[in-house]
Amino acid sequence: MSVINQMNEKLANMIAAGEVVERPASIIKELVENSIDAFATNINILVIDNGLREIKVIDNGIGMSSVDAKKAFLRHATSKITTEYDLERIKTLGFRGEALAAILSVSKVTIKTRQENGNAYYASFVDSKVIDEGNTSLNIGTEITINSLFYNTPARLKYLKSEFSERAAIIDTFDRLALSNPNIRFSLTIDDKLVKETYGNNDYYSLISQIYGQGILKDMKYFEEEFAKIKVKGYLASPSLARSRRKDITIFVNGRYIKNYTLTQAIVDGYHSFLMNNKYPLAILIIEMDPVLLDVNVHPQKLEVKFSNESLLRFQIESIIKKTLTTFKHDIPQNLSMFDKKETTEKYIKESLDFTYNDELPFKVSNDIKEEKTLGELNINKIPEMEYVGTLASTYLLFQNENGMYMVDQHAAEERINYEYYYDVIGNPQIIVREMFIPRKLSLTTNDLSNLKKHIELFKEYGFMFDDELNLVTHPTFVLDKDLDLMIDEMLVMINEKGTIILSEILDQLAKDKSCKASIKASDKISRTEIDELIKKLRLAKNPYTCPHGRPTIILLTHYEIERMFKRVVS
Ligand code: ADP
Ligand code: MG
Repeated sequence: MSVINQMNEKLANMIAAGEVVERPASIIKELVENSIDAFATNINILVIDNGLREIKVIDNGIGMSSVDAKKAFLRHATSKITTEYDLERIKTLGFRGEALAAILSVSKVTIKTRQENGNAYYASFVDSKVIDEGNTSLNIGTEITINSLFYNTPARLKYLKSEFSERAAIIDTFDRLALSNPNIRFSLTIDDKLVKETYGNNDYYSLISQIYGQGILKDMKYFEEEFAKIKVKGYLASPSLARSRRKDITIFVNGRYIKNYTLTQAIVDGYHSFLMNNKYPLAILIIEMDPVLLDVNVHPQKLEVKFSNESLLRFQIESIIKKTLTTFKHDIPQNLSMFDKKETTEKYIKESLDFTYNDELPFKVSNDIKEEKTLGELNINKIPEMEYVGTLASTYLLFQNENGMYMVDQHAAEERINYEYYYDVIGNPQIIVREMFIPRKLSLTTNDLSNLKKHIELFKEYGFMFDDELNLVTHPTFVLDKDLDLMIDEMLVMINEKGTIILSEILDQLAKDKSCKASIKASDKISRTEIDELIKKLRLAKNPYTCPHGRPTIILLTHYEIERMFKRVVS
């Protein structure tokens, strides 16, 4: 008995829809990409109820004939490619001919369209069938309205993330589309409120300030280079604007926003020595190359591409970025990251919590000293009393006592102290609110600020209050003053990803951040009082001998060792 049936068109489209249009933001992406392919110079996006009630995209592109307006919704219907030859040389954003068919299968659609010298025509579809059509009035271009999204796929509806993350995804999508097309005017209206708008005047600087906010501009650098007929340009934000998420690295290839691990990594590596661990840059990379060298047909959402010369790209991009970053004159702490990035913070945390006193203590200077008697006599459970002698290279604090000379790595020590501070708070996150002396302006992008505004009540629950200009006016005492920006950035990332705040996770992240941040103090000169304070706090630490990454905070060179080095004793 034959059990295999060929699916009907509608079912096949619904399955394809799962890949192409998983959420409102992906519908907006597909519709706007069609408008861009239709040479529109003005694209307006209107969204109601995060796109679930309505998504409308209006463009002033070339429009369609009434025949094509219906044909466009058939599966595999496209005007963009006809032969296999074309598939290897894709210059348009679309080419698979499945987006409109997929969208139609999961929503109710109305299209209005008009070509130059043609009449305006409209058609409405329900359950993928035309229920109404005829003449209408419209300027040249196309207007597509999507209603009742996912009305017939309740499972999909259920899997949509929180309201907030759908809205955030819509805004991200808008940002990327706008950033990749500086010559097109875009606007985004959500629930009848104009949320974002770009001018389409081909000026990248004004575009960036419209997308990220005016404040970011002064901290961005432009670069432009060409190699092997590949043009690479972009904008790099100063490392001082480091972010907690990778997604502020935006890559475009031939006008298409893509996700590409290798190139993202090339950018992160380019920034490597300028950033703390776990921090990512804000960067825009724009690549233009012969489409033959690119396979865009590897992902239904066309978000991934394959480069035929990926290693060359990777190498070149990393070095261009390094070169560009050295032109940032101010506030670049060079070589911040003293540890190997590959070691994950989780591992550091685990190591430092698992740390037990054993013969691996850093007091062991070398193997042959292990049997040395004085070491055995040391009370190694606490940092001994010792006298400050001086500081070496503004980095190592030197002390002496009857055992010999101690060197304390001031940064490692500070990391340990900071780390334990926040780790302790995790167990006991009491929210006592402190009012700020002067309201504090935070270094956030316009998106961050609007998210902040939206969740102002949630922030209040944790003791963060803001004035009308979104300057910080109160904060919980457990967050140190210097960590406020970092903490708020982490909170926004979590709201974005999880829709809420889980304080213990935020504090854990902060503990991790802090354990890295101490290294910013590389070669900082610290005063005598600060030195005493540092040692006092280190004494109180649970695991004073290593930084959270497992490097020693203190090393002892015993008198015996020193004498042996000077060959006063032979053994
Ligand atoms: P693809 O973009 O891969 O060709 P779509 O399903 O997204 O597939 O669109 C099908 C076709 O409909 C396009 O090839 C194009 O001819 C036409 N089309 C869609 N949207 C527009 C628009 N806004 N303006 C003009 N033509 C459009
Ligand atoms: Mg398309």
